[in-house]
Amino acid sequence: MRNGFILRFDDLCPTVNWKIWDAIEELLVEFDIKPIISVIPDNRDKSLIYGSPGENFWNRVLSWQKRGWTIGLHGYQHCYLTKNPGMYGRTGRSEFAGLPSEVQEIKLRNAIRIFLSYGLKPEVWVAPAHSFDASTVEILARLGVRIINDGYALFPYEDRHGVVWIPQQMGRFRKLPIGVWTVCLHFNGWNEEDLRRFREDLLRFRQTIISVDDVLQQISEHRRNWVQASAARLLDASLRIGRPLRQGLLQGHWHFRSKSFRSPQGNSENLG
Ligand SMILES: [Zn+2]
Repeated sequence: MRNGFILRFDDLCPTVNWKIWDAIEELLVEFDIKPIISVIPDNRDKSLIYGSPGENFWNRVLSWQKRGWTIGLHGYQHCYLTKNPGMYGRTGRSEFAGLPSEVQEIKLRNAIRIFLSYGLKPEVWVAPAHSFDASTVEILARLGVRIINDGYALFPYEDRHGVVWIPQQMGRFRKLPIGVWTVCLHFNGWNEEDLRRFREDLLRFRQTIISVDDVLQQISEHRRNWVQASAARLLDASLRIGRPLRQGLLQGHWHFRSKSFRSPQGNSENLG
């Protein structure tokens, strides 16, 4: 699989820092980058109020989706209810991990319903505080959300339940190591200097920035190659099983012929 960075912007909701976001959006269009935009379906987190609600928020999100950007389902209300870090949480707080499965399912159904009501595809799960548990994954897969952007793997992979895991390991750009690295950016607190640095990073790393669609395409190619490789392995095995049979027949044939049809010069026919 190709190495690369995926860009992710977290905590999009109607009350983001629009001045900064508008500038970021322009840069993403200018550099033709297709990031993951994590959108909170029904934000109730007061720490994410950076200004008055922007107009037409959901239409804007829809326009990002139409541009080929990936819209991440960023929890439901972004309120932490447990102190459970879950599978990958770096802090002990969660909107989901540790809650009874039935409660998680109600929250996830509500979150997905909001996305669908605005014409948004809930494709990728982006947990607030990276915190979710096995129940969350099972419910999401059942409700059709089969991509999870979290974890520390080197490359994306598909698990045995058909859930695709795209790792998320960085908070800023670094020289690209081997692997696929999601760079998660929290822009609400940015200033002009941060914007300038972001533009420089885009100039420097633009060739190595890929999208979720690129990853999915590579996974499906890999799956196809894997099927072809399995078919080749099977064919190889059947040929190997078949070879002694054929050789036995040939040898039987040879003995028969060697006795009966030995040439007068005593030359053996080479049938091997
Ligand atoms: Zn968040």
